[in-house]
Amino acid sequence: KTSEDHLKVHKMKKKVLRKQIRAQHMLMRHEGIECISHATQSLVIANAGLGNGMSRQQLLGIIEEYGSVETLLMPPNKPYSFVKYGTTEDAKKAFDALNGKEVTLEDAGQNIVLYINFVEKVFWQNMLPASLPPGLMVIEKVISPEEERRMLESIDWTRDEDAQNAQKTLKHRRVKHFGYEFCYDNNNVDKDKPLPGGLPEICDLFLDKCLKQGYIKHKPDQLTVNQYEPGQGIPPHIDTHSAFEDEIISLSLGAEIVMDFKHPDGHTVAIMLPRCSLLVMAGESRYLWTHGITPRKYDVIQASDLGQKLGAITADVGDLTLKRRETRTSFTFRKVRRSPCNCIYPSVCDSQKGQQRQVQPSFPHNEMEALKLEEEYVHKVYEEIATHFSSTRHSPWPRIVEFLRSLPKGSIVADVGCGNGKYLGVNEDLYMV
Ligand SMILES: [Zn+2]
Repeated sequence: KTSEDHLKVHKMKKKVLRKQIRAQHMLMRHEGIECISHATQSLVIANAGLGNGMSRQQLLGIIEEYGSVETLLMPPNKPYSFVKYGTTEDAKKAFDALNGKEVTLEDAGQNIVLYINFVEKVFWQNMLPASLPPGLMVIEKVISPEEERRMLESIDWTRDEDAQNAQKTLKHRRVKHFGYEFCYDNNNVDKDKPLPGGLPEICDLFLDKCLKQGYIKHKPDQLTVNQYEPGQGIPPHIDTHSAFEDEIISLSLGAEIVMDFKHPDGHTVAIMLPRCSLLVMAGESRYLWTHGITPRKYDVIQASDLGQKLGAITADVGDLTLKRRETRTSFTFRKVRRSPCNCIYPSVCDSQKGQQRQVQPSFPHNEMEALKLEEEYVHKVYEEIATHFSSTRHSPWPRIVEFLRSLPKGSIVADVGCGNGKYLGVNEDLYMV
């Protein structure tokens, strides 16, 4: 019996070691982080990252049991964290206690296993200090809590369909339109068909204030109200140039949210929109940058101000954590455009589209052309969407997990189109290709 137990313990230890080494390889290959075999003050903890759903508060609670923590770095969207203890002894204590330890994620209720390695020092190249996209402003406390309450109450969501305000439940949010209906088929408005009733009266005072303060130059005549539950979002997009004038303003009500802005060169800036704040998009930020809300239940925010501070979220990885989203309602005001757009961004301007020579894909006549076509319309597209794709697909589908676990030991599995590889570690006893 004892020898059987002994064998069990031995097997468990081997498994932990195997996984720990795998984490080492993963860190080296994908991140260039080198793990070392001797003890130091610093550890890298695999599976305990913001990208796994581990919050800064929970991880601190776990690691502080073994000594005082000097630094905890949690890079955004990564499945690991770095911790530096005051002494090597404390780091060793944490290593011995936590390597291979199963932990339940506080909010998700999911179990994960921690794998730990020593590193020479904790290090993360902070991205350049994020500056706001040109033309963008976030104005804090632009309305009072009382005004916020009245505006939220003015929107009646009780009816499922509402013809007058073109209410719809879209895949990822609820919307209502005032003034003009925004049509999602052609991403434009029918300019000859204003909706009866115009904008809600309650908005008048607010819009006058915006004009007086100089946030906008023209009074908007179209309002879209969006309601996002936790987990919902809106794909990255640029508001159609030919549909609306330059300035677009959006009020955040009910809860704060993080909005992602992206320049065509790939540069992204995450921006905190606090409750009762106003987002103003004009110029480059309105015409050239896409904006969107990643559908997720948590936002990565700065731990020190818990969503209270506005503006760009700095990439200071010593100060990031997760915050659970709540229902957020936005009032987005725009002015319908009556003449074609003549902005200085023709590459993204639908009004100026005909003026450029549009290269349409055509049937390839040789291998070379076929490769080019694939590069342009497959590889480039995947490069473009990879980060967003991966960051929204980290939870495995239960049925697939069930299937993988049901296979006999030693089976060979080909995961064709494996995405970010989320099923590769589901069953250790399979050979996954
Ligand atoms: Zn334009």
